[in-house]
Amino acid sequence: MLDVLIIGSGPAGLSAAVYAKRANMDVLVAEKVFYGTGQIAESNLVDNYLGFAGINGYDLGEKFREHAVNLGVEFKEGEAQIFEFADGKWKVHFKNGDVVETKSVIYAAGAVHRHLGVQGENEFAGKGLSYCATCDGAFYRGKTTAVIGGGDTALDDALYLADLCSKVYLVHRRNEFRGSAKTVEKLREKENVEFVLEAKPAAVIGTDRVQELQLEDGKKLNVDGIFVAVGMIPMTTPVKEVVNLDAAGYIVADETGKTSAKGFFVAGDVRTKALRQVVTAVADGANAAASVKLYLGID
Ligand code: NAP
Repeated sequence: MLDVLIIGSGPAGLSAAVYAKRANMDVLVAEKVFYGTGQIAESNLVDNYLGFAGINGYDLGEKFREHAVNLGVEFKEGEAQIFEFADGKWKVHFKNGDVVETKSVIYAAGAVHRHLGVQGENEFAGKGLSYCATCDGAFYRGKTTAVIGGGDTALDDALYLADLCSKVYLVHRRNEFRGSAKTVEKLREKENVEFVLEAKPAAVIGTDRVQELQLEDGKKLNVDGIFVAVGMIPMTTPVKEVVNLDAAGYIVADETGKTSAKGFFVAGDVRTKALRQVVTAVADGANAAASVKLYLGID
């Protein structure tokens, strides 16, 4: 039986795997997407991970994964759906019917993109509407785009697109940004970026592809592409009956990663915390592995 099954291969899961493997634990990392490295792969620029200023998120994710692979960490592709605890062990049921038994779990499943929930959003997803500027931005070279949101993702996306697109509208529902003031400053210096503040999207309009973003005040922006960057939703559906969640749906745990369930630990963006960054995800992974070590009584 495994000492620890880690759910998720983003920075938190991979960091937990490195620490668990180095403590001689029998460890397996389950990942929904084959050879994934989590959300970080979508980040064009990570400028605040200590020692790697200016690195591309995909490259940083590859480095994390390589570290775990070089230590002999094994991976399993599959979506964990049901978690059962009995007789001191966890039975984890996967979508494909596989069942994995383990003495403990580190849950590092991360979070997914929040949708706007406006008319036309689903219809035009992949037809001019995207949730990942790093992935799809290059298709809009020389074109007009709108980025929706006021957090770091939206700001980074707008900055990235400003160097590709002829025009970028940054559409935010308030007149203050949640994201970094420094990035806002950089955006203000870009001649092709227009701030559209106190503006709520109402509908995405087009024929075959996106043509307009309609705002609640009736204003319409003519755009070729729309990038939605309005935050994330924690991936807690399979565990919401197993562990305590906070009001926003994140798993309640302090830095130790200890949850309300025995032998079930959490790490990364899916945990209640003030700052969701690569560095805090990586720290969470290390802490959760240390907690597992204590839990299993490993010296
Ligand atoms: P976020 O910080 O939660 O920001 C979401 C933004 O979307 C907010 O500005 C919010 O507006 C807006 N929003 C939410 N629902 C909306 C709706 N229905 N309609 C219109 N706007 C809506 O999410 P994030 O930007 O993805 O960042 C997540 C975490 O990752 C943060 O901790 C962030 O600092 C971190 N991050 C860091 C970097 C970096 O360091 N380079 C890059 C990306 C992300 P309000 O402000 O009005 O609530």
